[in-house]
Amino acid sequence: MKVRIMRGAHEIGGSCVELDAGGSRIVLDVGKPLWAGWNDTVPLPPVPGLADGDDPSLAGVVISHSHFDHYGLLPQVDSRVPLYIGREAAAVIGASAFFSPAGLHLDPTGYLVDREPFRLGAFTITPYLVDHSAFDAYALLVEGEGRHLFYTGDIRGHGRKASLFDRLLGDPPRPVDVMLCEGTHLRPADDDHADEPPRTEDDVELSLAQRMSDADGAVVVVSSAQNIDRLVTVYRACKRAGRTLVTDLYTATVAHSTGRATIPQPGFPGFQVYVPNRQRVLVKESGEFSRLDLIDGCRVFPEELAAAPGAFTLLMPSSAIPELVRSKVLDGGVVAWSLWPGYLEDAGGMRLPESLERECIPLVIDHVSGHAPVADLQRLATALNPGRLVPIHTEASDRYGEFFDSAEIHADGEWWEV
Ligand SMILES: [Zn+2]
Repeated sequence: MKVRIMRGAHEIGGSCVELDAGGSRIVLDVGKPLWAGWNDTVPLPPVPGLADGDDPSLAGVVISHSHFDHYGLLPQVDSRVPLYIGREAAAVIGASAFFSPAGLHLDPTGYLVDREPFRLGAFTITPYLVDHSAFDAYALLVEGEGRHLFYTGDIRGHGRKASLFDRLLGDPPRPVDVMLCEGTHLRPADDDHADEPPRTEDDVELSLAQRMSDADGAVVVVSSAQNIDRLVTVYRACKRAGRTLVTDLYTATVAHSTGRATIPQPGFPGFQVYVPNRQRVLVKESGEFSRLDLIDGCRVFPEELAAAPGAFTLLMPSSAIPELVRSKVLDGGVVAWSLWPGYLEDAGGMRLPESLERECIPLVIDHVSGHAPVADLQRLATALNPGRLVPIHTEASDRYGEFFDSAEIHADGEWWEV
């Protein structure tokens, strides 16, 4: 079995890996690089048959999880190429399409199921459900010509599904000849963003609950609508603090799309929905008013929120904050940034800290990464005991040797034997 990393050997985002065995090929992930804007066109990696669907040796594409830097180039992949992804991951991506350029309506050939091997060309693929900030995310064990490659995808062990990481450590696949290992938190030596201190989703829950107890006014948590783990965290914090959770329509729609009755969504006690102006306009202009049926009976309006702000915690996109300020919902309140803090530093985000300061609204950060710290990656490598460990999804591949015994670096585009 041969493999080449098409993108990701030296960067975070845009991951794409091609494998070749027994006369057939498969592709793991076709991400859009993080440096590309929504409107930038990025060519597909030059994998034969990917763009035109004309090469029968290409048996299919497998998407590890529902983050744009892992599936964002799918619209350029020919629809005849078989596609595999988690069922709920596909549902989340589909539910996002109305609200975000990141969304897509997919028509998968088959779905990934935890620890259920399936054949694709000359390969046998076993998905392993993992803990990550994307819902329904998988690591992938790929067997071809008797060799075994384990692709971590994006992975962590400190989220709401931390038990999946422990299960992988306790019952790892064997043997693993190559572990293709993400290294988001391996940082270049001159990087001043040090590895973050170990913190879990449970820590974020407790911290947010404390902020809700301390604040007189509303608490607005800014997060991603697709981060279901964080939704659960905020809902649990609300329960602790005796507050009602108010999400936007996008978050409510995504939560509902999972089809999971255990995920907080409209109909849950203490769950209401406010439709921010931008989403209200989207519904009006599309004429898709049935989208509001979902929030029948739990929709809430700014006057109600402003009348008793201390009773509510809002989980909202940052774009909704100005209208919440204008309608006095945030008087006496606090904004908790629950995304990667780097997003606060970019040009668009810089205006948020300044405008909140002008309004005397405190801005705090309550976040934990979707990726494992280096120590957890080491624990995983010890458990899997791979013959070789190859970096991907990292800006510090040259540092893997400091942390892993069997590190071996391969550049983008280079074929090598598993
Ligand atoms: Zn991811």
